[in-house]
Amino acid sequence: MEITLKHLTKAFPGDAKKNMPDTIAVNDLNIQVKDGELIGLLGPSGCGKSTTLYMIAGLKQPTDGEIWFGDEEVTHLSPEKRGIGLVFQNYALYPHLTVYDNVAFPLTNLKVLTEEKCHKLIAVRHKRELLSHAEEIVDIIKHALYKNKISKELAIQKLIAKFKTITSIASYLFKLKLHTAKDLQATVDKEIESLNAQEQKILDSLAKKNKKVDEEGFLLDENGQRIQVKRTLRKDEIDALVQEASRLVMISEYLARKPSELSGGQQQRVAIARALVKKPKVLLLDEPLSNLDARLRIQTREEIRRIQQETKITTVFVTHDQDEAMSICDDIVVMKDGVEMQKDHPQAMYDNPKNLFVAKFLGVPPINVFEGKIKDHKVYLGTECILESEKLTEDKDIYVAIRPEGFLPANGKNVFTINVKEIITQGRDKSLIAEHGSMTGEQVKVIIDSDVKVDVGPFALSLRLNKVFLFDHESEERIEF
Ligand code: ATP
Repeated sequence: MEITLKHLTKAFPGDAKKNMPDTIAVNDLNIQVKDGELIGLLGPSGCGKSTTLYMIAGLKQPTDGEIWFGDEEVTHLSPEKRGIGLVFQNYALYPHLTVYDNVAFPLTNLKVLTEEKCHKLIAVRHKRELLSHAEEIVDIIKHALYKNKISKELAIQKLIAKFKTITSIASYLFKLKLHTAKDLQATVDKEIESLNAQEQKILDSLAKKNKKVDEEGFLLDENGQRIQVKRTLRKDEIDALVQEASRLVMISEYLARKPSELSGGQQQRVAIARALVKKPKVLLLDEPLSNLDARLRIQTREEIRRIQQETKITTVFVTHDQDEAMSICDDIVVMKDGVEMQKDHPQAMYDNPKNLFVAKFLGVPPINVFEGKIKDHKVYLGTECILESEKLTEDKDIYVAIRPEGFLPANGKNVFTINVKEIITQGRDKSLIAEHGSMTGEQVKVIIDSDVKVDVGPFALSLRLNKVFLFDHESEERIEF
């Protein structure tokens, strides 16, 4: 499902009595998220990321602008009618419910338009199909051991996982006691005979009531079309959806636990399963990893990427962590004060920042920013000319931003000299902490090959020009050279 934001704006009114001015949290945002894409909203605290997400969710009403899901305008639709799944940073699970009931919660009392089927017939046929795997069933049950004894719960869990089936059918397979049968084939044959008889009885009963079903067990009207009904979901249908979502986020083995018996990462996966269980068209994630420790954050973000790619669900992911956004998003929107600064592929944005804010926001260690000037087509840092280009036609003050990996030992005429204070060698690379009179921050950070010989004190460098960006001093917009 494609998402389009048109001139989206949100102003929060101030309070004159408390001298609180109005806040324009989101200002004329125009974004298109393609179907199946994972987009990251990235920016510092207060830049309007969450407000944007909540407007897409329908939890906040825009002051101006429109929100479209595909061809449908949803600006004024309630959250329930938008078909979204929402995950917050604090999981928001119900502590007194099991994981299973937490995931199932959005489905209870939910009325859906569905094609009516003959559940009994489908179940009988499904059971019969599974009995063709009798040896595997026996093997699974015999290996579902807890304290050296076969555990019914574990066996059911493993049967569900193996055959992607539901709890009631897995329980039926366990109760057949195939694992204790003296003659497995004879037991299976007898059961299949009984299932055949049950199937015939169901078909006879349908025929008596003049009801027709297709091959897959869906009920048909007089024109041979599948019958649609609006109703709440049956227990088995809820179970199928819960099992499917749980499989996807890999929490099937925890379904009987309470949320407090899970790690933070597992709880967050439960929250994601709960958001996915209704099969939403759009998944909205608000800083979903911020309560996790560093290792779990990396693991869980990769999980989110996998889940998103498996489901191909259009996803908007809010984060203030550039590393997070860069590693999993197809596209990133960097925001500042409610305004879009740039929208691009993560690497393209790193390689081609449109303005100083984006250049500074992306990259670890951060980009080095110097006060410089353009004079006679040449760029100066202090008295040293670091580059020249005929494209630089206007003499003016500028910012010169150089990525830490943008330096080489001096080669050629355009060099600039830093005062090296500290040298840290880490495997392949050497990090230099240095000073320079034109630096806007405190220290220059340089990463060069560990083979380069450097001593503390003045050190002359050349530049990799594709790692150097020039910005207008006033507008902070990029100047090409
Ligand atoms: P964070 O990363 O800290 O969550 P954010 O980028 O998600 O920040 P928002 O929560 O969208 O930012 O807030 C954007 C701006 O709107 C902030 O200046 C915030 O103070 C303001 N704001 C948010 N909600 C309200 C509100 N209900 N009333 C007034 N101002 C609000």
